[in-house]
Amino acid sequence: MRRITEITTCRDAVRQAQAKGQRVGLVPTMGALHEGHLSLMREARSRCDTVAVTIFVNPTQFAPGEDLERYPRPLEADLAACKGVGVDLVFTPSVAAMFPDDAMTRVRVNKLTEGLCGAYRSGHFDGVTTVVAKLFHILPADVAFFGEKDYQQLMVIKRMARDLNMPIEVLGCPTVREADGLALSSRNAYLAPQQREQAVSLSRALFTAKAQVASGECSTGIIMQRMRESIEAAGPAQIDYIEVVDPESLAPLNEIRGAARICLAVRIGGCRLIDNIGVDYTV
Ligand code: AMP
Repeated sequence: MRRITEITTCRDAVRQAQAKGQRVGLVPTMGALHEGHLSLMREARSRCDTVAVTIFVNPTQFAPGEDLERYPRPLEADLAACKGVGVDLVFTPSVAAMFPDDAMTRVRVNKLTEGLCGAYRSGHFDGVTTVVAKLFHILPADVAFFGEKDYQQLMVIKRMARDLNMPIEVLGCPTVREADGLALSSRNAYLAPQQREQAVSLSRALFTAKAQVASGECSTGIIMQRMRESIEAAGPAQIDYIEVVDPESLAPLNEIRGAARICLAVRIGGCRLIDNIGVDYTV
């Protein structure tokens, strides 16, 4: 496994693999790797000849006052984890290399970024699309893998690649969960033991809602209210949002008629957790 910090060296390495006829898969991450990240790498491993991973805590996607400074950065363990799943190349650039002081360009996707997390994290998605667009140029891979865990992010990146005719396929991969249902996240490390117990209320509310939709409940108002009650009953939590949206446009739905996505963001203590689930109403 090669670790590369230089932009041009990284681009050359990807192009050299492609020149040999290899299909290159890309898995962008912010590190603090867990089984969710590793599932993306395994998927890339099974579909591609060369697997490239990026580890970069992107400062431009953190709003002022968010957890940029305390975000975990266990680089040696991350490199070992990448090696363990057969990654070929890990790109670990510096902040200065990615965002020199004289940079002036931002990439922005409108509309899809207005609701859900976009309404609560000012500038977040502009930071995400800018860094991912840069990574797609630095590692001009054939296919990139993103988790459904960050469903809005996945849809925003798909839209960016499509709107800007980026020659890369963007694939979504299912959310990996703990045995009790909690979605794996690097931020789960912030949870104290009691908060960790409470946090299971998020996925439980999503699974219950999915079952209710499958058995005929189509009113999003009723579904959202029940979810809110069950999450609040589990302990002190600040609910940023619970929303039922169209899975493509992310527009809020009043009624579920077909496929929908239920998305939520909840703060437990100092930890902001997001999760989502696909639901289907077919009667
Ligand atoms: P992050 O390091 O949090 O920026 O995440 C890097 C990639 O891993 C993103 O595409 C995430 O959606 C994905 N990811 C994070 N957590 C999970 C999870 N529990 N299951 C699947 N993918 C995940």
